[in-house]
Amino acid sequence: MEATTFQSLLNPHLADLEEYTPIQPFEVLSQRLGIPAHDIVKLDANENPYGAHPAVAEALAEYAYYHIYPDPQQTELRQALAAHLENEQRLSGNAKESGESANSAAPAVPVEQILPGHGTDEILDYLCRLFLGPGDAIINTPPTFGMYSFDAKLVGAEVLEVWRDDGYHVDVNAIFDLVSSAAQKREPVLPKLLFLTSPNNPTGNWLPDKDLLRLLELPVIVVLDEAYVEFAVETSRTPWVLEHDNLVIIRTFSKSAGIAGLRLGYGIFPGWMMPLLWKFKQPYNVNVAATVAGLASLRHADEMQTIVDKIRVERDRLLRALEDVPYLSPFPSGANFVLCRVDNFKVEGSGDAAALKIALERQGILVRYYQKPGLDNCIRISVGRPEQTDRLLAELHRLA
Ligand SMILES: *Cc1c(COP(=O)(O)O)cnc(C)c1O
Repeated sequence: MEATTFQSLLNPHLADLEEYTPIQPFEVLSQRLGIPAHDIVKLDANENPYGAHPAVAEALAEYAYYHIYPDPQQTELRQALAAHLENEQRLSGNAKESGESANSAAPAVPVEQILPGHGTDEILDYLCRLFLGPGDAIINTPPTFGMYSFDAKLVGAEVLEVWRDDGYHVDVNAIFDLVSSAAQKREPVLPKLLFLTSPNNPTGNWLPDKDLLRLLELPVIVVLDEAYVEFAVETSRTPWVLEHDNLVIIRTFSKSAGIAGLRLGYGIFPGWMMPLLWKFKQPYNVNVAATVAGLASLRHADEMQTIVDKIRVERDRLLRALEDVPYLSPFPSGANFVLCRVDNFKVEGSGDAAALKIALERQGILVRYYQKPGLDNCIRISVGRPEQTDRLLAELHRLA
């Protein structure tokens, strides 16, 4: 029999899956450009330019039990996360107290409602598989992070798109209209999950409290991705999970804690969802190295915060400096990156973001570029160390 016979056995909803475009590994790129890896200014994936806390490498080197399977209940890590979130809440309560009123007595998130994963990617995948199948849908708010629609399509669900407005704000009314027309069966599919990101990637803007509150009134599960919340001026909505049975918050060690390569994220879930997740999850989903690194990062949360603060200061400097580059229009950002529209970039006659990306790459400076609806001619620049910003700015001005 021929291969096509067997191919016809494939799950039909996977047939028209879009191909994932992998990024070129750092070492391969370094070879191709002929630039040593340590000279490359990597501002294309929102990684932490300072890397992990030195205690992470020490803890990984000292740990002696890599031959033992991980704790499927992740008890130590979950307890450390609960303590960390409580501390974060206390600090944000204090910060508000010095301003207006405060509710520093807000209860902490219990250990029982926290679940770590192999990156937040795994948590997103779990949510899609728990709630969705063919005939179901997610509501996505493009332009935004690509994983939500990717994971939804993997399980055969539809992606209903509610586009953001010109300032990249979520169109709350349009989402309400969509859900009510589905309830009246004018939509062929049932929206079950609404994915929101705050600050949003790649646009950097914050979802205001009032919008989130309204959206939580909908009969759908709201998944709020807070991958960049540590960099924002506003504070995490983590405690809201205690008051809303349809809110899931996801957070990650990839950005603020600088261990993207080790894959560690976590979700904060309403209590009723937890028994399902425990039955559902892969027993050894978080590996021992990620656990050791995560615990070490949490033990040094204060110093990590100092690094985050440094990145925030640098983001604001980068943003102001980009405003002086004649062919760029940067958008304000509460994350560790800045999105810019490229207008009139005339080098090599093409005038677009792709040409700028290539011109920068030749000098060993990597940025992300977009050429898709809502992000026409845009580049996204991650916040680097001050000397990396300086190199970027010098090159941007040289190209003007
Ligand atoms: C980087 C990023 C994440 C983090 O994903 P991990 O799997 O934890 O590395 C999640 N959400 C958004 C929007 C991101 O940009």
